[in-house]
Amino acid sequence: MTSTIDAGVCGFIGLGLMGMGMAKNLLKKRQHHLIIWNRDTGKAQDLATAFPGRVTVAHTPKEVVSTAQVTFSMLSTLEASAAVFEGPDGVLAGTGPSTAIVDCATLTPERMAEMATQVEEKGAIFLEAPVSGSKGPAEQGTLIFMCAGDKALYERVAEDLDAMGKARYFLGAVGAASRMKIVVNMTMGGMLACFSEGLGLAKAADLPLEDLLEILDGGACACPMFKLKGPHMLRRSYDAAFPLKHAQKDMRFAVELGDKLAQPLPVSAAANEVYKRARQQGHEDDDFSAVAEVTVHHDKQVNGGAAKGKAGRA
Ligand code: NAP
Repeated sequence: MTSTIDAGVCGFIGLGLMGMGMAKNLLKKRQHHLIIWNRDTGKAQDLATAFPGRVTVAHTPKEVVSTAQVTFSMLSTLEASAAVFEGPDGVLAGTGPSTAIVDCATLTPERMAEMATQVEEKGAIFLEAPVSGSKGPAEQGTLIFMCAGDKALYERVAEDLDAMGKARYFLGAVGAASRMKIVVNMTMGGMLACFSEGLGLAKAADLPLEDLLEILDGGACACPMFKLKGPHMLRRSYDAAFPLKHAQKDMRFAVELGDKLAQPLPVSAAANEVYKRARQQGHEDDDFSAVAEVTVHHDKQVNGGAAKGKAGRA
């Protein structure tokens, strides 16, 4: 399970839909040895098997951080972040003056600032680096990184970011990158909810939905997301690239940010309600395109909830 660690050791925590592809690109394109921790140890062991001699499976997040020169973290939620950072064998327990943390999750600006303070109080350095792009771009190394925090760390990990992404931006003090990411995802979530309502209205008006997809794609509304998700939404096929529960988390963060800044967000607040309804109907772990179950396929619900199953729903 373990192997020798060399000088280029890099830590990675969180092998979810995004983290797995990102870690693989670090292994493929960089010369690092990775020390990895994931709650489900099986995923880390699978990676160690796929890259013999290049991966150490750690027993705790503390072990990762106290071993690696730089640790990338890609956890999902505020709760996951608190559990992994603040637990007894967590990230903070292993953090010392030589630690460098790059957090790539989509969290709130407040949580990122809190983590930065916790890390810096131990003499270490912190970069927030949430990403735009989904499971495919994570696998293909074409993510877009929005970074803020320690500028020297940003420059130090530039080649790692370039191994995982196609573009990167440095936006200033911690919090700025999360705010930018929240704006990006609010825009995306609102667009998909509106697209989904368009499909629903077209269906109610007895219009051919495949033709609607082509008409939208041929005009000024053409958009890679509509082109990618539209056919799946018609087929009710929702294998998760971006889980709906995470999309709704980001809509919630956006509404909260709007509240704090007294910035009206009537359209996005309404879209947030549609994603909440989809969660309520059991689509938390489906792709966020399952928002179509609320707006398009609501007539096909079974026992008060949508028909379950990953593909080919009736
Ligand atoms: P995911 O597939 O749900 O993976 C979540 C990761 O967090 C897994 O490694 C999971 O461990 C870990 N985790 C969750 N709860 C935990 C807990 N209580 N304790 C310890 N570990 C825990 O999420 P994802 O899609 O990779 O997204 C990761 C982050 O990137 C999220 O903040 C998301 O909003 C953001 N993001 C996602 C996308 C996308 O398209 N998917 C795009 C851009 C940004 P296990 O493996 O053990 O479950």
